[in-house]
Amino acid sequence: MDNIQHPENESCYRSLNVNQGPEKQPPVVNPYLTRVRRKPLPSAGELVEGILKGDVTVLSRAVTLIESLNPQHQAVAQEVIEKCLPYSGNSRRIGITGVPGAGKSTSIDVFGLHVLRDGGRLAVLAIDPSSERTKGSILGDKTRMEKLSQHPSAFIRPSPSAGSLGGVARKTRETIVLCEAAGFDNIFVETVGVGQSETAVHSMVDFFLLIQLAGTGDELQGIKRGIMEMADGIVINKADGDNIDRARLAQAQFRSALHLFPPTASGWQPEVLTYSGYFELGIPEVWDMIDRYFAFVKANGYFERRRLEQARYWMYETINEKLRDHFYSNPVVEKMLAEKEERVLANLQSSFTAARDVLDAYFKELKI
Ligand code: GDP
Repeated sequence: MDNIQHPENESCYRSLNVNQGPEKQPPVVNPYLTRVRRKPLPSAGELVEGILKGDVTVLSRAVTLIESLNPQHQAVAQEVIEKCLPYSGNSRRIGITGVPGAGKSTSIDVFGLHVLRDGGRLAVLAIDPSSERTKGSILGDKTRMEKLSQHPSAFIRPSPSAGSLGGVARKTRETIVLCEAAGFDNIFVETVGVGQSETAVHSMVDFFLLIQLAGTGDELQGIKRGIMEMADGIVINKADGDNIDRARLAQAQFRSALHLFPPTASGWQPEVLTYSGYFELGIPEVWDMIDRYFAFVKANGYFERRRLEQARYWMYETINEKLRDHFYSNPVVEKMLAEKEERVLANLQSSFTAARDVLDAYFKELKI
């Protein structure tokens, strides 16, 4: 044994023994490995054809292209979205939010089965602001929705993980278009009720459902007023066992709090219900509320109006995002930003003149 090559074999490391590897590496164990090639990039036309047939494998492939940072993939994805647009729009888009532990996945599992009981198809998408840091998504995860993930008419897709919240949200917005073109007539968009992601979800759904818990003693304090104001329905989960009375109390508190809010743009008075996702109690009542909401806003024209407003919002959002990306990925900007940041932090330059200098350099680069 060669101790110079393997210091682990010194006598002080008695439990370790590293053997000499073979002189010559053996041939590849799997003789077919070299023949495995990457699938060629499908054309936009092929993808659209598959999507319109409702083929979930093709749909997944196209969504992967939406999420890809590769410019070639992006170009195909944008063409697919454009071609699918005329076939989109025909679904109920429902946003579902709640703090971690509120019971979102348990509820989506039973809500989903309830929605699918009369046929149709359901897509569960997610916007997870934390995924940027963790590089993985905790929302829209198949393992969290056991029953639904086995249902042939359900399509569950975790949150896109790369990029800013705006970028992640745009990708989910674009995925909705493809899902609708593939015949999904119910779309759930799930998010964690902790921050700005609600605004992004609110801007892409028709109905916004806030899942709350009772029995924490500070029912109304924990939620940002803005989130409550966005909700078209508040549902208090875990209204089962010993918790029923507390859930009813929370329901009364939410109802009176909602009365203090100004009337909603839709003219709909948000409702507060109690239910139990785990014990499957009160589920039809929640969906009856949602059905009534859709009937109400379709009758008074708000449904169409809001979708148009959302389309406008996404046009500006997309412009903003692309401009930001273009700016920050410019090499001159990147280099200069690092220098300027240091100067600002050392109090050698004001933030405003530093910003102006970087922008000037950027515009000069673009020859504007
Ligand atoms: P999420 O983090 O919002 O997705 O919450 P989960 O669906 O993972 O639920 C968190 C915990 O609450 C789990 O242990 C569930 O079993 C439990 N839970 C969810 N819904 C109910 C319910 O209706 N009643 C009771 N008692 N527990 C529930």
